Amino acid sequence: MVHNFSAGPCILPQEVLQKASESVKDFNGIGLSLIEISHRSKPFIEVMDNARGLVKELLNVPDTHEVLFLQGGASLGFYTAAFNFLKENGKGAYHDSGTWSSKAIKEAKLLGNVDIVASGKENGYTELMLDYSIPSDADFFHFTSNNTIYGAQWQTLPTSKCPLICDMSSDIFSREINVSDFALIYAGAQKNMGPAGTVLYIVEKELLGKTGRNIPSYLDLSVHIDKDSMFNTPPVFAIYTSMLMLEWLKDLGGVKAIEKINNQKAELLYNEIDENPLFKGYAHVNSRSKMNVTFTLTDASFQAKFDEMWSKANINGIKGHRSVGGYRASIYNALPLSSVQALVNVMKELATVTA
Ligand SMILES: *Cc1c(COP(=O)(O)O)cnc(C)c1O
Repeated sequence: MVHNFSAGPCILPQEVLQKASESVKDFNGIGLSLIEISHRSKPFIEVMDNARGLVKELLNVPDTHEVLFLQGGASLGFYTAAFNFLKENGKGAYHDSGTWSSKAIKEAKLLGNVDIVASGKENGYTELMLDYSIPSDADFFHFTSNNTIYGAQWQTLPTSKCPLICDMSSDIFSREINVSDFALIYAGAQKNMGPAGTVLYIVEKELLGKTGRNIPSYLDLSVHIDKDSMFNTPPVFAIYTSMLMLEWLKDLGGVKAIEKINNQKAELLYNEIDENPLFKGYAHVNSRSKMNVTFTLTDASFQAKFDEMWSKANINGIKGHRSVGGYRASIYNALPLSSVQALVNVMKELATVTA
């Protein structure tokens, strides 16, 4: 068995991969593949309804909000979010926690004014800057709940009278959230929900249509709501596989249950990083992510040995992001505690063999 710590696309449960692969040959025994039938056919409409329903159920989405499965990744989400919420001549307040927030800021600037209320740039994005205030005239406050690259995560999510927009790509479904606190949540599927190819939007309906802008059809969330997330051909395989993943999560006991397991996994790994003199954590202790654990060796001369050891232990995908270096263990929902234990064992072993 390979221990898959990949940052994205991410690990999926074996049973999800099994069912997804069967559906490509013969979808639910209909003698046709999932990817060769009309998205307007009954079997697929059921998939779409079920997937959207599971999101609502697992996250307790209130009736004020709607759930969509669209395309373009979170990267188009940066622009889509601004297009739907940034008023003509208005202003968006942005929290900058690194690469993804910066990209969101870049897209918003194409449309209007951006106020960066806090930035971790000066300290290499190792810590979330939480000393900020949202200007009273801001149309919304945008933040990234978990920085996938630096391994820094909001420990508690903010609340505000100002509409909140959050890129939750790398920690959606990892912990309980209060959806009604948000005007918009968007998340690329491939970190913690499914394969690449679809992006989840959860949007408060009332707040749409107030920017005074002409929005291109595909970027207009109201259009997608009116069409029940079927404005155009949806990415059927990505949505189906996400649906399977959400069923898996529901069977496990839902978000509350996975949050407990995620806490155990993170604690196990951070404890080793803190106790083992050969390692040190990258992100500030107060901002540590429970999804992407970043760390470095305290003595770089052990790198070749460590790399050889984890590779031998069937561990995959822990090389740090090219902009940070070191190591990053992504411990998303589908990664079992036993895989974290396997990594911890190698870290302990390194201390023994180099002593
Ligand atoms: C990966 C990631 C993105 C980019 O997602 P794409 O689907 O590749 O566009 C955006 N935000 C966060 C937090 C991410 O982790």
